[in-house]
Amino acid sequence: MAQESAFPSLYEYALARRCPRCRAESGLPCNAPRKHGQIASRNRIRAQAGQPPVELDPLEMLHVVRIDAGSRHQARDIAAAPWPEDRRPGRRYDSLEH
Ligand SMILES: [Zn+2]
Repeated sequence: MAQESAFPSLYEYALARRCPRCRAESGLPCNAPRKHGQIASRNRIRAQAGQPPVELDPLEMLHVVRIDAGSRHQARDIAAAPWPEDRRPGRRYDSLEH
């Protein structure tokens, strides 16, 4: 648990890079009209059935190759950081720009 909170989420890692698939710049969401369309139609069907829209995992809006790259980056940072017991509280050990 402590290890996870010392690092940004996988979504932040993925978002921090350019998307190799749709070329979305870092920090910008993927240009994924098909994904948007699928989610919109899913929510239309739910609305007709009187159900609230599905809660969206932000990772769903990114291309898989971007998530994979973010995941490798995150894994590298975690591997390069000191062991959890040697970390100072409140310090960031990730290599994302901040
Ligand atoms: Zn993309």
